[in-house]
Amino acid sequence: MGDDDVANATEFDAREAKKAILDYCLGKGALAAGVADLDALERIAPPGHRPSDIMPKVKSVISLGVGGQTQGAWAVPAKAMGYFGSTETRAYTISYGAAFFIESKYQTPAIYCPPDMDNEKGPRVPLQSLKLHAEVAGIGARSLAGDILLHPEFGYMYFASIFTELDLPPDRPMAQNPCPAPSCVSMYRQIGRTPCQKFCPVQCLSGKIDEAGKQAEMHYDMAACAEISQQYEAVPALLAEAMAAEDAQGREEALFDPDNKMLWYKMSVGSGGLLAQCFECMRVCPIATKAPLADPIRRSKAKAEA
Ligand code: SF4
Ligand code: SF4
Repeated sequence: MGDDDVANATEFDAREAKKAILDYCLGKGALAAGVADLDALERIAPPGHRPSDIMPKVKSVISLGVGGQTQGAWAVPAKAMGYFGSTETRAYTISYGAAFFIESKYQTPAIYCPPDMDNEKGPRVPLQSLKLHAEVAGIGARSLAGDILLHPEFGYMYFASIFTELDLPPDRPMAQNPCPAPSCVSMYRQIGRTPCQKFCPVQCLSGKIDEAGKQAEMHYDMAACAEISQQYEAVPALLAEAMAAEDAQGREEALFDPDNKMLWYKMSVGSGGLLAQCFECMRVCPIATKAPLADPIRRSKAKAEA
């Protein structure tokens, strides 16, 4: 009997195992969790970025989402919002725990899926698309805001994934996409843009809504967004500028200009502001801010009532 047989022999009902794992994730603070269809992921993800490229014997991809910042954060000025960064580390902690949970309960290999960039392809190409995992697992749908995933109940979430050799029944993608919201369709009909498109400070979002009020096209200028929101990309440009300066004064200006000094500050404190969004597209998004359980205050009231 091989290792796989031992694991299978100690098994269980796959549906019960799935429930236990998803319950673990929800119990640790995930708002939503699901299992993505592995065949779909293997078909859609490009070579080198398929789940089997990370875990050759993978049988299931579990995706979970956690809520973003507190409700009060949506009202802070942009310069403070940049520091709110995100809550994705919470999602990573839960997925780490879930991988250990699977290995200890089912004696089957599991991993926390690294959310990081592909070290052979640079800082804009992730090893895996956590977004694709979440979309296929049915816990978010692509929005007009650069394909950020939105959920009709929880709004805007941060995602993490777990891979395992445990064979779990998959969920389906969401049947309805909450984006565009009715108020966004109305605005689009009037001015030709949705709130996220209108208020993006670098105008990197555009697209079309069809007659039925559904997404028809979405364009996202990733480079323009990255320039303002992925500030780690500014660091090499700044160093190149300092190295190319003609004299000491030019070097000093490049390195010690107050804007540039902020980058050193953010690096020294490990600020999420170096790799956060600028959040303006989500600040004006009715789904991100007003979905029934997007607001942590409303979530806690709903929990208390339940
Ligand atoms: S994060 Fe900022 S720059 Fe990027 S799409 Fe949203 S509003 Fe635009
Ligand atoms: S503001 Fe939100 S719901 Fe409206 S179009 Fe943009 S992403 Fe979609």
